[in-house]
Amino acid sequence: MSKSAECFEEKFSIESLGAASGIVTGSLHKLRHGESTIVIDAGIFQGKYDAFLPSGKSRNTEDLGNIKNVADILLTHAHADHVARLPLFYKKNCSPRTLTTEMTRELMEIILKDSAKIQKDQDKLYTCEDVDEVLRHVSTIKMGKQIKVGNKHDHLTALWTYNGHIPGSASIIIEKTGTRGGILFTGDIGKEIQPICGGWGETKERDYPKDLPIKALWTESTSFDRESVNFDEKYEQFLGSINKILQDGGSVVIPAISMQRNQEIVEIIRYAQENGDIPQDTKIYKDAPLASKFEETYVEDADLFMTSRFGNDPEFYKNPASSKKRFELKNCQQVNSNKESVGISRSLLANNQNSIIVTSGGMLGFGRVRNYIDGGFGANPKNGIILTCYQVEGTEGRMLTDQGYLINKNGSRGAKIEHLNVFTGHVSGETDTFKYLNRFDLSQLELIGIIHGNDNNRKKMAETFKERGYPARVELPEIGVPINFSLSNT
Ligand SMILES: [Zn+2]
Repeated sequence: MSKSAECFEEKFSIESLGAASGIVTGSLHKLRHGESTIVIDAGIFQGKYDAFLPSGKSRNTEDLGNIKNVADILLTHAHADHVARLPLFYKKNCSPRTLTTEMTRELMEIILKDSAKIQKDQDKLYTCEDVDEVLRHVSTIKMGKQIKVGNKHDHLTALWTYNGHIPGSASIIIEKTGTRGGILFTGDIGKEIQPICGGWGETKERDYPKDLPIKALWTESTSFDRESVNFDEKYEQFLGSINKILQDGGSVVIPAISMQRNQEIVEIIRYAQENGDIPQDTKIYKDAPLASKFEETYVEDADLFMTSRFGNDPEFYKNPASSKKRFELKNCQQVNSNKESVGISRSLLANNQNSIIVTSGGMLGFGRVRNYIDGGFGANPKNGIILTCYQVEGTEGRMLTDQGYLINKNGSRGAKIEHLNVFTGHVSGETDTFKYLNRFDLSQLELIGIIHGNDNNRKKMAETFKERGYPARVELPEIGVPINFSLSNT
């Protein structure tokens, strides 16, 4: 073997089957090396991308490749766009190992069962029984501990390192033993400081090998064009919007994605109650069944992940007991049925009810928020809906945000709609993104794949890598197009 062949003998390929081509959903990436095929994340396509292709097949069931050859599925975190295609790998008598953290396993069970329930009959991908079968094949790993993966002849290892996005979320480093260089899949990167679960800057112990050179980097780019907002600004804007509606005699509906954002909102409202930043007589409703399940799991597993931080104070909660009470609100009613939810909406046609409803349906298309849009609440122009989640183009949420209010059947204006751009669970902007990435040794980086972002963000990030002097080849992966590469072994 010649010297140069020795230096470049580690052949890999990565094929993205989602979260590429400028699409920010359906994360699923296949890494091939030697006899091994490893899948990193198995997310479902959501929103308008959960559609039928020209071939007549649903994008979610379109060829996942030869799933029989998959040795291991490695999951970065429990969001549906990273895990909810997982059961498809266990149909056709396949039984790969799924490896992930304990928290991801816990949260994923709720997500997958909910996903099975909400799939309409004609588009049924899997049932709750299928989900149970999947869960039997999940092995949990510890952050920072190397695990052997793939075909054993290929000597590959994987290591999970906390990335501060949601409880249990991680970036994954894959390495070939005996070589000096890893492949880093960032997953969805969180913030340096993150509510409830803590950000990547808050981990007490380092759980990543700082001296391992990363030679290939597959990174997300969701919020690369968006600078970070500090807690005070977020709190001020959020409470300002709530109080404006309440002072005007209206009530407020806050629809939020069920995991993490919903709990973040509840925790802020609790603080506002204690601090006297909302009127004491404001009635609060928790009207989001799935969010309540997550809330329960968060409290049950608090010891695994919860920090004592609130806002800018890292020691806000003085002990574990007070930390676990962070979602307990005063003057609060848990809404237990859809009928009850419809009734509350009807009652809010009247003014001066001083109510805040934290509900589900972040992009307004479905979930309990529909009871408020379509019911009495929505017809009252003094009421307001405050959106905190990103509104994907083409969704009802985006259309109504642009319109700024609901329109009643008689043509009159209904409840106001305001979108606040200050909440995000993703790392944002160039400075913070590179602060995260540069925690790893990128001095020998040879290949960069930019995924999980629109093309604007992907191109901007690619230019930034070049401007910052990284000598690596930069790829913007397309769905179904494998990227072949070798990693130098010197
Ligand atoms: Zn995510």
